[in-house]
Amino acid sequence: MSTIEIKDKKFALSIPESEIQAAVRRVAEDINRDIADKNPLFICVLNGAFMFAGDLMKTINFPCEITFIKLASYDGLYTSGTVKEIIGLNESVVGRNVVVVEDIVDTGITMERILESLRAKGANSIRVATFLQKPDALQREITVDYVAMKIPNDFIVGYGLDYDGYGRNLKDIYTVIE
Ligand code: 5GP
Ligand code: MG
Repeated sequence: MSTIEIKDKKFALSIPESEIQAAVRRVAEDINRDIADKNPLFICVLNGAFMFAGDLMKTINFPCEITFIKLASYDGLYTSGTVKEIIGLNESVVGRNVVVVEDIVDTGITMERILESLRAKGANSIRVATFLQKPDALQREITVDYVAMKIPNDFIVGYGLDYDGYGRNLKDIYTVIE
């Protein structure tokens, strides 16, 4: 078993690159089939979704725009529950069909906040594409349209997701073991 250390924690390899890439391709193909005629605006939620968005967009095969927003709700290992405002959305979403591109939906609190904000800004339709979802952790009634992979309720790093700022560059996903 392949393990790594980041700061004070040990992590074990749990999802290899090949599985990640196959799952991301499936989501992109679903999106290609569903919304090719909708002139969508993809909204990548930084920092965590940068790698998912990068790979996803390479398989999207119709004209579209992509933009990037930022917000912070996570501190160390546990969701803090306090979600900050969206920053960086310079494009108007009025009447647009938007696709929020997220790294992971955990409790769903972050996504609920993003959806409320985009609705208030006048988006015509909002879809959610997340790389990972932890179904057992969900605390909010939100619709997640596209999920690349579902995972258990353990802390993971890699493929854009960090532990205390590190590990985002890993091409595989690792789960905390100690
Ligand atoms: P939620 O608001 O759904 O509880 O949390 C969403 C955010 O928490 C994600 O965008 C991500 O930044 C962070 N998060 C949730 N679970 C994990 C995890 O296992 N590892 C890492 N690195 N971040 C996580
Ligand atoms: Mg995120």
